[in-house]
Amino acid sequence: MKYLVTGGAGFIGSHLVEKLLSSGDKVICLDNFSTGERGNLKDFGGSSFKLIEKDVTQPLSIAEKIDVVYHLASPASPPDYFKLPVETLMAGSLGTYNALNLALENKAVFFLSSTSEIYGDPSISPQNEDLCGYVNPIWPRSVYEVSKRFAESITMTYNRKYGLKTRIVRIFNTYGPNMRIEDGRSIPNFIKLALQGKDLKIYGDGNQTRSFCYIDDVVEAFVKLPRIEYSQPVNIGNPEEISIFDLAKTVVKLTGSKSTITFHRPLDNDPKIRKPDISRAKKILEWEPTVGLKQGLEKTVESFKRKIGPL
Ligand code: NAD
Ligand code: UDP
Repeated sequence: MKYLVTGGAGFIGSHLVEKLLSSGDKVICLDNFSTGERGNLKDFGGSSFKLIEKDVTQPLSIAEKIDVVYHLASPASPPDYFKLPVETLMAGSLGTYNALNLALENKAVFFLSSTSEIYGDPSISPQNEDLCGYVNPIWPRSVYEVSKRFAESITMTYNRKYGLKTRIVRIFNTYGPNMRIEDGRSIPNFIKLALQGKDLKIYGDGNQTRSFCYIDDVVEAFVKLPRIEYSQPVNIGNPEEISIFDLAKTVVKLTGSKSTITFHRPLDNDPKIRKPDISRAKKILEWEPTVGLKQGLEKTVESFKRKIGPL
């Protein structure tokens, strides 16, 4: 099998590339390194791996025959997409259009890495795939939410209009090694600050919740889905829900840090709850998470210690 992974130098993409290569398959990684890291690719080499340094919004043409196009390229951390708002909208729109056309030319399976953010600030919990969500198209966070909604819409349109084999996963908060130290999302931020003995900043009162899934579980679902026939969106996440205040306390405890936790102005349009209903993934993929939060955090802390080095 030959795979194209757009965004392969990023957090999830690099784990996916590693998993595909370990099965003896060939992988082409396309990335512009806007939020990815070269270090995430340092262990990949040989004839099975190829890097194309390119922006997915530029016209794409690849001489080799591709079997599956995994489209992950997009800023994903809120600080990244607030810094790169136009780039985020274009990665989800023009980038998805280009990746879809490449899949069509190759008669490949197209796999879209969408997000729980398409549910916006949800009114019900847990969120299942039928929920249409609550998103305001003009608030700042919409650069990510709306670009992914567009990406889902054009993906389903290619499925209906051209018969392209498509897959959509709506990923809930995922964490693990290979996140950038400066990624800015809660888990890498809290671990970095706890290891440095600095204050962990909570935006809001800390009662907002998220459900965090360890990367190995997410990659397992990424590998399984193209192998079955299923084009409707599938939630992928760990239903183990936690408040952000409890998350911060857990990280401080696990790292043995003397850091304190401080409270700050909430972020604009920050969703208050997020918890996946994974009944669909359980049924069609026979998939469910296997790594609990404490175990996953311990692995992530160890990887961050190696990255940050002695203080
Ligand atoms: P990341 O920022 O670590 O990785 C994204 C990668 O895409 C980076 O390597 C970046 O350089 C690359 N990229 C961005 N724009 C590009 C462009 N225009 N052209 C080429 N490459 C580009 O983020 P991640 O957490 O690994 O997220 C990967 C995908 O999964 C994204 O599509 C994201 O929306 C989705 N997702 C992630 C999570 C999560 O919790 N990590 C949750 C939901 C959805
Ligand atoms: N958050 C926080 N401090 C941080 C980083 C994040 O309080 O240093 C909060 C953020 O406001 C949000 C939650 O933690 O309510 C999860 O944020 P993250 O960026 O991890 O994911 P997302 O908001 O994309 O779900």
